[in-house]
Amino acid sequence: MPELPEVETTVRGLRPVLEGHRLTRVEPRRADLRHAIPADLRQRLTGATVTGLGRRAKYGLIETDRGDTLIFHLGMSGRWRIDPDGIGKHDHLLLETESGHVLALNDPRRFGSLDLVPTNALENFAAFKALGPEPLGPDLTSAYLAGRLDGRIAPIKLLLLDQRVIAGLGNIYVCEALNLARINPRKPGGQVSGPALGRLVEAIPKVLDAAIDAGGSTLRDYARPDGQLGYFSTQFRVYGREGEKCPYDRGIIRRQVDGGRSTFWCPKCQR
Ligand SMILES: [Zn+2]
Repeated sequence: MPELPEVETTVRGLRPVLEGHRLTRVEPRRADLRHAIPADLRQRLTGATVTGLGRRAKYGLIETDRGDTLIFHLGMSGRWRIDPDGIGKHDHLLLETESGHVLALNDPRRFGSLDLVPTNALENFAAFKALGPEPLGPDLTSAYLAGRLDGRIAPIKLLLLDQRVIAGLGNIYVCEALNLARINPRKPGGQVSGPALGRLVEAIPKVLDAAIDAGGSTLRDYARPDGQLGYFSTQFRVYGREGEKCPYDRGIIRRQVDGGRSTFWCPKCQR
């Protein structure tokens, strides 16, 4: 499943192909993904020039000179293909630019989404309304976290997965950040010490940036025909490493499953 680093890498990979370019063809190939694709998407985007690309939480943003922003979510299996060899049944939206590039949004499981929202009303988009600060932005500080976690008895791991606390952070990177910050995932949020929160707000962008860098190094490959954006392998500290040794202290990494989600942590340094 694409997490924030994959979405960020996708946006960076799309930027050189789309930014400043006019869309000469916009072709939705079905009526819906997770929810309906706007019926007027073709009409509103054809002929528009892409003025910028961005990301909010795990949503990609494609802004146009018509005052609309196309918001895409990759769901469980979505990816953009640049200049694909052929168009398949899982390519649900095609974009063609005046320079002749073709982009296909491919999503076999169709848990992704496409929305078109006035750029000046982006913050009113339902999925954006209650979002906390971006984990890579300046608003994620230990003072902010201390305020949000104050008095909370829910485990710190669950609170970090709450999109109202931090936007776009998923299970993998919460496990990674908690190990880097040496915090027990099950510790009640309100009991995490000030110094530990200081380590945490440094650890969160660090694990995300490392993954984005790993994705960025694969961006070169996207120049090839049929290049696929957004998926790459990353070396994790603890995620998926049950029974292996913690990078800090060679403690044995454990795994516990709660509500279908796996938590990986080192009982030695994450007390
Ligand atoms: Zn350890």
